[in-house]
Amino acid sequence: MPQASALVRSIREEYGQPIFLNADHTHSIARAEEAAKAGFDEIIFDGSSLPFDENIVQTKKAVEAIKSINPTTLVEGEIGWIGASSAILEKLPEGVGVLTTPQEAKQFVEATNIDVLAPAVGNMHGLLQSMVRGETEKRLDIRRIAEIKAAAGIFMTLHGGSGTRDEDFQQAIKAGMTIVHVNTELRLAWRRGLESALKAHPDEVAPYKLLPAVGQAVSEVVEKRLSLFNFR
Ligand SMILES: [Zn+2]
Repeated sequence: MPQASALVRSIREEYGQPIFLNADHTHSIARAEEAAKAGFDEIIFDGSSLPFDENIVQTKKAVEAIKSINPTTLVEGEIGWIGASSAILEKLPEGVGVLTTPQEAKQFVEATNIDVLAPAVGNMHGLLQSMVRGETEKRLDIRRIAEIKAAAGIFMTLHGGSGTRDEDFQQAIKAGMTIVHVNTELRLAWRRGLESALKAHPDEVAPYKLLPAVGQAVSEVVEKRLSLFNFR
């Protein structure tokens, strides 16, 4: 974590870009504290696999622990089950599809004091094979996003956004989503970029000759997504 933090800080300073460093899905208070000490801007304490009441107890503890290290670090909490793997899946993980309610969101935010909320609104971690083939897309419940936003009144993150219909992304942002995650799309681009670089240069052993094409493949997805999300 200290190395990741130092790397991002150096890029931020050199290029003057407002890059935001996020510790995605920490599952223990010890890991969350490690990220806070390393200077991450935001830390997600993910208790979403716990029963709701236990998630509240643990998330509240995480908020207190992180803020006591650095009060300016943003803390994100997560409610509702949207799966746990940024992988290419054959079928929907069990339990995915139950949406967060505005009441749960309000109760969770008030009890834990989080800065950012990650709800379940039709999103899912990972991609289905049918989405990779371009046959299906994720759809979001835009009305529910607006209701949760009104009830919670804080920043919100759309996790598991990969493979979502373009129009739904924009509507979700309009309805109150502040942060959008599309990590599986980036990993897919990374994998395909790597495969084609290795295929194009079967005898190459120098990483610095193979990896720029991989970075380029990821950059193209990032650029496409940023232009979609910054539509206003
Ligand atoms: Zn996530």
